[in-house]
Amino acid sequence: MRALIIEDEVDLLTSLAQALREEGYAVDTADNGPDGLFNAEGIDYDAIILDVMLPGMDGWEILRRLRASRKTPVLMLTARDQTRDRVRGLDGGADDYLVKPFDLDELLARLRALIRRRADQPTNRIVIGPVTLDTAARQVTLNGGAVALTAREYSLVEFLAMHRGEVITRSQLYDHLFDETDTSLSNLLDVHVSNVRKKLGFGFIETRRGHGYCIE
Ligand code: CA
Repeated sequence: MRALIIEDEVDLLTSLAQALREEGYAVDTADNGPDGLFNAEGIDYDAIILDVMLPGMDGWEILRRLRASRKTPVLMLTARDQTRDRVRGLDGGADDYLVKPFDLDELLARLRALIRRRADQPTNRIVIGPVTLDTAARQVTLNGGAVALTAREYSLVEFLAMHRGEVITRSQLYDHLFDETDTSLSNLLDVHVSNVRKKLGFGFIETRRGHGYCIE
């Protein structure tokens, strides 16, 4: 999953980006409104964390412009618990909001919930034949036994599982699993797919020649 954080408080931006990376997200950041909007419109993020008070363009305006082209789930960060702000955010197309200062675990849980909702997944548990994913714990079991996946392998499985039945192109996978700071070579994707198949069964991820990958 790839997230964008638009926040001008540098300490908060840095700590949020680090926390999300530790949770396995690919993370892009922007510390002002115009850069944030540019990224938000240009990339199909799985979720955006959007501060309200920003230099250059505020969060309301970013949200308004973004909603003209994209349905990306947006979690807004508001400075005070003002009903007026919450109503304005939700009416303006925000999917959720948190009041600063917020609890990091709550933010992570709300982010997971937004991503699940977009993928029509009612819970954190995804069962695919003998394979079960726990998207909160980021754990995978095969026939009830824990399987050790690397962070990249897990992210690959999670993204395909969230889009079960859809053929996902290689370029979609690159867009959602890697961020602007990643410089991995393109053949690494094949290595990750190959390793997942060794661990979860060779038929678990299907290759659709010329199209991409799919979990049925
Ligand atoms: Ca701010």
